[in-house]
Amino acid sequence: MKKAGIYIHFPFCKSRCDYCDFNTSAGMEKYFPAYRDALLKEIHLSAACLPEPFEVSSIYVGGGTPSYFPSHYLNETLQALAEHFQISPEVEISMESNPADVTERVAQDWRQAKINRISLGMQSARQAELKMLGRRHCFQDVVKAVKVLHDIGIGNINLDLMFGLPRQTLADWQDSVRKALELQPTHLSLYALTVEEETPLALSIQQGVLPAVDDDLAADMYEWVMDFLRTQGFQQYEISNWAKQEDGYDYRCQHNLLYWRNSAYLGFGAAAHSHLHGWRWANPFPITEYLHAISVVENSDNLTFPFPWMEEGQALASADEMGESAMMGLRLVDEGLRDDIFYEKFAKSLFDVYEKQITELMHLGLLEVVEEAPRAIRLTRRGKLVGNQVFQRFLLD
Ligand code: SF4
Repeated sequence: MKKAGIYIHFPFCKSRCDYCDFNTSAGMEKYFPAYRDALLKEIHLSAACLPEPFEVSSIYVGGGTPSYFPSHYLNETLQALAEHFQISPEVEISMESNPADVTERVAQDWRQAKINRISLGMQSARQAELKMLGRRHCFQDVVKAVKVLHDIGIGNINLDLMFGLPRQTLADWQDSVRKALELQPTHLSLYALTVEEETPLALSIQQGVLPAVDDDLAADMYEWVMDFLRTQGFQQYEISNWAKQEDGYDYRCQHNLLYWRNSAYLGFGAAAHSHLHGWRWANPFPITEYLHAISVVENSDNLTFPFPWMEEGQALASADEMGESAMMGLRLVDEGLRDDIFYEKFAKSLFDVYEKQITELMHLGLLEVVEEAPRAIRLTRRGKLVGNQVFQRFLLD
């Protein structure tokens, strides 16, 4: 049986962070019960419409802030998945959480729902930075959350941090990373701040309340952290992600690996994306449109694939698929874009399809070939700093 991942989207946040432009809403708590009902229906309808079953190798609960969603609703949703899909016994079930939401009671509920990996949005150890970002937690919340999770037996913990913030110095960044490491995470996701248009943060920079982001300093922060984490036993396996490999356990996020290998996944919830059976699509958003779409389909007897509620559905041409596989695979800075995976999908070697690009980018010192099996191409250290420029070269006409 083929394998695929499942993504569940909870587009609710208690408050909006000042840098965020995601598909998420604050002040929508009144929709919690209806959203839970719609998710249960969507899971049931999807299982009925799918042309062939698959084994679920990973589940990722993201948002928004899924930890803000009532934990008993969350458990019912995961229970419905288990009733309608074949879940692998080794399944990784990850959930994103705001550190302020982690209490002993809800953490017990999550554990009961078999959630075995928590991703905490720490962002910074410095209160001034958390305030500037509009985060609703403080660093002490992170310390407390990690302790609660460790105490109940969830040891696989990712910490998200951001660098390249207005006013942030290299020493500030180093301090946050060191404090994060003291909490003994198994995984780190480190992202350079992107100032998205029309967010409160962008407005503050435009009005001169905050200084603009210093891109050169952000590049120095990234270079420093790459070197530093190598000395701390972390493997950088993706441009922005580091994991431990210890006690015979691989702590890379199995669900995100599936995205970077351009493999199949099915998304549930408003705005959730899917990539399955040669199609790519998004679910309706905002929340009210999603609820409406599911209620209409529920009363229809036209239950077929592609799903009647999907939006922006697109059957994928193989040139698009190849370009996407290349762009995503190159993000895996250690394993790289693997020729065996590429060949399995397209019955062609990437070294034939991209011969010209590979030669040119190697000449520029941005790409290298991994000769030992599995043969692959990957970014050099210089290539990592200009990843987006390299990725663009792999889009086929
Ligand atoms: S918690 Fe995450 S999704 Fe919600 S507003 Fe903040 S950054 Fe955006």
